[in-house]
Amino acid sequence: MNKYEVLGVVGEGAYGVVLRCRNRESGATVAVKKFKETDDDEIVRKTILREVKMLRALRHPNIVSLREAFRRKGKLYLVFEYMEKNLLEILEESPQGIPFNVARSYIWQLVLAVEFCHASDIVHRDIKPENLLINPPAPGQNGTNAGQLKLCDFGFARAMPKSGMKEEMTDYVATRWYRAPELLLGATDYDKTVDQWAIACILAEMLTGQPLFPGESDIDQLYIIQKALGPLTPTQSDIFFRNPRFAGLKFPDMSNPEGLPARFRRDRNLSSSVAFMESLLKIEPLRRTHGKACTCHTYFEGMEGWGSALPLGTTATALPTAAAPAPAAAAPTPAAAVEVEVEVEIERDSKLVAAPVDKDYAGGADEVQRRLLSDVLFSKVKTLFEKMDADGNGEITREEARAFWGKNFAKVNAQAMFNEVDDDNSGAVDFPEWVGFWENVIKSEYKEEDLIEEIEMIIEGGSWVDFDDNRTT
Ligand code: ADP
Ligand code: MG
Repeated sequence: MNKYEVLGVVGEGAYGVVLRCRNRESGATVAVKKFKETDDDEIVRKTILREVKMLRALRHPNIVSLREAFRRKGKLYLVFEYMEKNLLEILEESPQGIPFNVARSYIWQLVLAVEFCHASDIVHRDIKPENLLINPPAPGQNGTNAGQLKLCDFGFARAMPKSGMKEEMTDYVATRWYRAPELLLGATDYDKTVDQWAIACILAEMLTGQPLFPGESDIDQLYIIQKALGPLTPTQSDIFFRNPRFAGLKFPDMSNPEGLPARFRRDRNLSSSVAFMESLLKIEPLRRTHGKACTCHTYFEGMEGWGSALPLGTTATALPTAAAPAPAAAAPTPAAAVEVEVEVEIERDSKLVAAPVDKDYAGGADEVQRRLLSDVLFSKVKTLFEKMDADGNGEITREEARAFWGKNFAKVNAQAMFNEVDDDNSGAVDFPEWVGFWENVIKSEYKEEDLIEEIEMIIEGGSWVDFDDNRTT
């Protein structure tokens, strides 16, 4: 963290804290999400890794951009572009709601972000005001310029099972007020449209300053939803009666729903907003407007890019399960990779010891090294070698290394890196040299699972995690 000067705390969550920091070199302000100890808690570790993977896969103007990820003293840090506020703060400043135009612009940006996630087969699952970051317009710029909105917090996002594959998803507890009925019921086969539900709840809250469905408990939440929108579907009722949490409970007759609150119906200026909200707030998930129908909804008529082949954006790295992204309709903002600043300091005088090779051992060099590096780590190291050895001749040349590091990292001292690994200064790195290098890394008290995780990231071509960190300690 020496690279960053901490200016203040901007958020605190279950997993850690978000700091406003200044990059000492460039002067840029960034947000650094610092996680608590991650070493012992496997679930937390997995959650973080998943978040990093999602963020790397999702490069879009309306999704917060992850610039760097690194580890220091067992803690993981994620560095993001800095955004001034979150929507909760904006709503707190405007208890009567925000202007119709501003709300529409924010919702448009949110819809673009969400549809982009969905096109990459990722469902966010935790869309709520705190997770929508906003850069308000500069003072004096009012009217239609609402400022920029970006979706953040992919801690609960997950990749959807491929269509046709039935896979149970966890009954995750999202913030109640924005939860679709199937989530409240504990359904495990919910789909992307849980995000659609949350979008509508947020639009309503922007327009009035009040949460649309402020339930006090899950059962109360289900009750107020049905009071407004009508009864659960037969399948949902079934789940309700089978869920032991709701044993002995029953809803009154819900067949005469009240519809959305009267304040929406009275205001004629809001008719298109209400029509859009109603198209998302369907009890039956399949009936919620989503995909192209959502981005082409008449509510958004006149917004930039409306009606074109959205969602805009590019995927930097598609997840293994991700569908091919929709073609970009407009040039996206430059991929964040360009902004990634990574420094790897190589201790030039640290002497590397070549991997000991027991010539008599039946398995040869591979087998001996395997005993030193563990099977899993050895196979990761091997995969990385194969990936870097572009022509597959069993040696990584200087050019191959430069091409690989250059492609995967914006700024890495490939030369120093190469010299360090090329133990005999032959100008090419063979496999024993390569394994020797990683052995050295692990000998310098590096934790094996951290290393595995980091090599996986490099293999996937993503953000650099600074493995150099613990080597000097
Ligand atoms: P958590 O998982 O703890 O909810 P979040 O990623 O949602 O973590 O971040 C928590 C809070 O920190 C957000 O609600 C927001 O207020 C602030 N925050 C997060 N990312 C940024 C950012 N890039 N710029 C400014 N503030 C941020
Ligand atoms: Mg959050």
